[in-house]
Amino acid sequence: MMAAQRSMLELGALHYAYPLRGARRAVLRGVGLRIERGELLALIGANGSGKTTLLRLMAGTLRPDAGDVWLEGRSLAAWDRRGIARRIAVLPQAVDLPSGFRVAEVVEMGRAPHARRLFGSTAQDVAAVHAALRDADALELAERGVDELSGGERQRVLVAMALAQEPALLLLDEPTLHLDLAHQVSLFRTIGRLRRQRSLTVVAVLHDLQLASALFPRVAVLDEGRIVADGAPEQVLGPEMVRRTFGVAMEEATGIDGRRHLVLSGH
Ligand code: ATP
Repeated sequence: MMAAQRSMLELGALHYAYPLRGARRAVLRGVGLRIERGELLALIGANGSGKTTLLRLMAGTLRPDAGDVWLEGRSLAAWDRRGIARRIAVLPQAVDLPSGFRVAEVVEMGRAPHARRLFGSTAQDVAAVHAALRDADALELAERGVDELSGGERQRVLVAMALAQEPALLLLDEPTLHLDLAHQVSLFRTIGRLRRQRSLTVVAVLHDLQLASALFPRVAVLDEGRIVADGAPEQVLGPEMVRRTFGVAMEEATGIDGRRHLVLSGH
């Protein structure tokens, strides 16, 4: 059957340049990637290498200058906004929660792409909001005002909002930035469970190479607007790649679990 062969997301020879004082500044220079349903992909790379830009192209909030993005086999340009919003949820790097609302109200806004009527929520919406709050460890925050939350609590509410959307594809831009270790682990456990339960596909921009290596079966490295490595973390995350991409000397050590780990070289 044709449908079964369609990738969740496919990027073909993507080029993108931001306008800069009348000129154009090339940020992505021919990015190709194929992401299958249920895959977990960590996107890593130095500051300014184009990771956030690539996520925006994946979400359709930016249009490529050349190349194309196919969602479930169909060019993003052919989807309407609501169709995309029903499939893709984005957790951006820096975003404000709408002020003056309770957490539960904000999370319910994540249901907008599924709304069947203008006002009020269905039993399905209520169940989805509850599940999203629970999965994001934010259930105890439900009645709090969003303006009085800590950075990490705010981040969990944003995660809940994205989960309430019940996406097929979740795009995360540094999702662990404000989270303590326990909530980082909890977020990725939830993601792992949603992947098993409903084949959720996840692309996450991460700066923490240990986290990427421990929790993601596939890692892609972006360097100056190109994918320079793509594969299992043990193949991709070696000292040579880290030196080339980040300009940092690291060594490999074998942990007590028998796995190889990267550690900073001493001086
Ligand atoms: P970081 O790790 O610092 O978040 P990144 O890999 O996500 O970086 P991008 O945010 O995609 O990188 O930015 C890539 C390049 O494009 C950077 O040099 C940045 O300065 C530039 N850039 C980003 N947004 C814009 C914009 N709106 N207009 C012009 N240039 C931009």
